Amino acid sequence: MNEFESEKKKQVIGLYGEMQLAMILHERGWQVHRAYIDEGIDFTITKYWCPKCKKFSNQYLRREEYKGKEKKCVTNLCEHCKKTELSIVSRYLQVKTSEGAKDKEDVREFSFHPKIRYDMGNDVFYVWIAIFEDIAAINDIDTLCNERINLKKCHFYVFNTKDVSEFDNTGLPTYQITDNQKTTLRISSSGKVLNGGTIYKYDCFNDKFYNDFKTLEDI
Ligand SMILES: [Zn+2]
Repeated sequence: MNEFESEKKKQVIGLYGEMQLAMILHERGWQVHRAYIDEGIDFTITKYWCPKCKKFSNQYLRREEYKGKEKKCVTNLCEHCKKTELSIVSRYLQVKTSEGAKDKEDVREFSFHPKIRYDMGNDVFYVWIAIFEDIAAINDIDTLCNERINLKKCHFYVFNTKDVSEFDNTGLPTYQITDNQKTTLRISSSGKVLNGGTIYKYDCFNDKFYNDFKTLEDI
């Protein structure tokens, strides 16, 4: 694969990961907004919140009679209590997708390179996506094209920018220097992070961050 092809493949992998992520977030009730220009925050996601009921809500659809017929009427009211104006909760996501380098059978090595290197408060999160693609066994091109999508498996690690300090030393004077710090994870095809780590432990990836979409809903 030449440089142009591998760059293109990287873009396709990135897009694939982001699409999978967008679908999961949509299913969890988030509206997903994507950045036009890559500046660090890739997705902004929003959800309506009722400050009185203290829970997420859809906009209440009121039914009103209009010219003798029942019509739906849009409101910005909570669908639970039907009287409180909804507010919007926003989360900002930096998404990193990688298909990794083959380590040994069923294990790949992924290097993630955070662009935001400090605690950005409660609303800014990383989503690291490890994609496993197993196409080695398929030879003919039609089967490959048909099966390709099905053979990709995504593992998601979701965590707040402040959680970086659990597995990395963000206090190092060199930490904020771009390209200086990469986090390399050895991940099995089932999504388990295998790194031991000497000073810092990577258990948080398995115990906390793995598919932790719930953390985005912490208020
Ligand atoms: Zn309410």
